[in-house]
Amino acid sequence: MIPEIDLYSDTATRPSAAMRKAMAEAEVGNEQAKEDPTTNRLQEMAAELLGKEDAVFVPSGTMCNAIAYRVHCEPGDEAICDKTCHVIHFEAGGPAALSGVMMRPLDGVRGIFTAEQLAAAIRRPRHHHPRSRLLSLEQTSMGGGGSVWPRHAIEEVSAVARKAGMAVHMDGARLMNAVVASNITAKVMAAPVDTLWLDLTKGLGCPVGAVLAGPKDFIERAWRFKHQFGGAMRQSGIIAAAGIYALKHNVERLDEDHVNAKALGEALGNVKGVKVDPGQIQTNIVFADISGTGWDGFELSKRLLSDGIRIGAFNATTMRALTHLDVTREQCLAAARAFETAVLEKRV
Ligand SMILES: *Cc1c(COP(=O)(O)O)cnc(C)c1O
Repeated sequence: MIPEIDLYSDTATRPSAAMRKAMAEAEVGNEQAKEDPTTNRLQEMAAELLGKEDAVFVPSGTMCNAIAYRVHCEPGDEAICDKTCHVIHFEAGGPAALSGVMMRPLDGVRGIFTAEQLAAAIRRPRHHHPRSRLLSLEQTSMGGGGSVWPRHAIEEVSAVARKAGMAVHMDGARLMNAVVASNITAKVMAAPVDTLWLDLTKGLGCPVGAVLAGPKDFIERAWRFKHQFGGAMRQSGIIAAAGIYALKHNVERLDEDHVNAKALGEALGNVKGVKVDPGQIQTNIVFADISGTGWDGFELSKRLLSDGIRIGAFNATTMRALTHLDVTREQCLAAARAFETAVLEKRV
């Protein structure tokens, strides 16, 4: 059953009529020979937007991380990131399986750690240590509830990493949410990091695709692993056109998603037994603590689905809702009302 109001993820969007039109009309060629004019254009746009020398179009964000880890690291290297990061929890062990990389989680607050924490974790170069090689930041932090890495903090941790000879990578799945929320350009936000990517399917409304950017030599190496991992495509302009459309039309409107997330969070927080930390909602993700309701998160999620509303359980006591361009403010509030009704059922 397709839910009427889908707050499970900001990937729960369908390409709009205008996006589909752009896709249908895309000029295409062989991507692998760099002869697909639409893919080339998207790559140029992304490189320009992110202030990097070059960029490459990739089928998914997960593959962007996989390629970046493979290019930056060798087996036995260590990547340092926050304990909540997507790479650790939701990429099927990719760094270990594909690059032989060890993950070193730091205990940040809402996904954000300090330069001091990083400095303390970086290992001194010794033959018997894994090599601390890569710093990976998530902007916004999904596990942190959509929190935004402040620009100065990115600068500080990057400086510490660079001094230790580490490369700095940004998982920018929701970079544009951070850009819109903090009113800083993507280029300025990305300046301290070596490589980064953004997901065209997270809140930007595309059916598929992500773009990975960095220095020329990095992107050249990235192409090798894009082939090796099976991410080289053919007439990819048909999907790249959606990305171009999204970057032109669906970025500024992310602010609406942020406003809706605040309204949704406030409504959920008013339900008896539910706790929402209003300071947590910086972008389009809402975490609601339901431990005071008697519900198990996965059961509550199932119950809501019977009302045509999908809100995921992040774990047994936390519900996670994401706003996006296919849900209106009214739908968010309707979902909150259904949520309240369901929660109250448990008490009778
Ligand atoms: C979704 C997500 C990814 C993976 O992107 P896909 O396009 O789903 O492969 C990586 N990192 C973060 C923070 C994400 O939210």
